[in-house]
Amino acid sequence: MKNIKKTKSYFIRLILCLCLASTAVLSGCNTDTSSTAGESGVSGMTDTSSKTTDVSSDNKPSTDSIDYMALVNKTHPLPDDWEEKLETVHITNSVDDDVEVEKKAYEAYLKLKAELETEDVYVDLDSARRSISEQQRIMDDFTEKYGKDYALKTVATPGYSEHHTGLALDLYLIIDGKDIVENEEMIQYPEIWSKIHAKLADYGFILRYLEGKEHITGYGYEPWHIRYLDNADIAKEITSKGITLESYLGTASESDISIDYGSSEIYSQDELKDAVIQIKCKFASLAGCELKSIRYAGDEAVTNENLKRMNEINPNVKYTQVVEFLMDFHSSENIIDTSFEASRDYKDYQWWLARTDDSGWEICLMSDV
Ligand SMILES: [Zn+2]
Repeated sequence: MKNIKKTKSYFIRLILCLCLASTAVLSGCNTDTSSTAGESGVSGMTDTSSKTTDVSSDNKPSTDSIDYMALVNKTHPLPDDWEEKLETVHITNSVDDDVEVEKKAYEAYLKLKAELETEDVYVDLDSARRSISEQQRIMDDFTEKYGKDYALKTVATPGYSEHHTGLALDLYLIIDGKDIVENEEMIQYPEIWSKIHAKLADYGFILRYLEGKEHITGYGYEPWHIRYLDNADIAKEITSKGITLESYLGTASESDISIDYGSSEIYSQDELKDAVIQIKCKFASLAGCELKSIRYAGDEAVTNENLKRMNEINPNVKYTQVVEFLMDFHSSENIIDTSFEASRDYKDYQWWLARTDDSGWEICLMSDV
């Protein structure tokens, strides 16, 4: 995730880009009240109590160390004793934000940064660690300011953000001396990101949220969000195979999925892709389910009657467009969500999404019939 800056206007823009997938390139996950929603943080709200380095113990026994391979995602919370074991450093970045990072991850980051500078690529840390209590404060603050629904939709559930680990780093670019911190702008430099991504594994990092793997990670493509694993060999293996941390750790399979956008005279391919990313992100929260195919249900589902149904489901929103997709998937044997049967092959499962004139697709209805 990237920082959400201090102003509400920026915040809303970011949500539109990151959470509601309003653009073709920058399609993040939509919100989800039952699990996390967007790896949303607030840079102006990070803990500024200390700008000093608080690294103290180099000789701790390994049992006291954090597990650098730990998985924290929408279905896997931060391990209980993490915060006691975590050792961090605080730094101030080029835009004067305080950033807290796990100690070894920061050391590795400095080496990566130095290596990149030999190729005239300049980066800095936008954000890294956020504590669970900080995330809760953000949630409470947004609840108070914008209401509970909005907060639940935009702020990651405390305990389920990879940023809690201190091992997830959001980078930003510095180009010709200018800080490029906004997502919409950063995404315009794919060649620079490629150079950065090519170096990550050498220093024990992986790119965490891969394009096309949203149904596994639960997040849209984020070129800036990297994760430290403290093991260059594993990082290289994950990178060379093009897999996710989830698959490497065996909590998800990377079997091929087929996506059929059909032919629409109403929506462009990019508009349909944005909708599919929302579906895939939501699917990732159904832990252990195996996605087989997604297909566009056709322009015939785009009717005023169906639009009206969506507006009845969410009466506070004024949707102007509707779309339907059909999915085949196999449910997990221990699925927690009681609206699904365990170990079942679902065929033609319906996903209904709608959007307003100025927002991205939102999942309104998931239905078996
Ligand atoms: Zn991030």
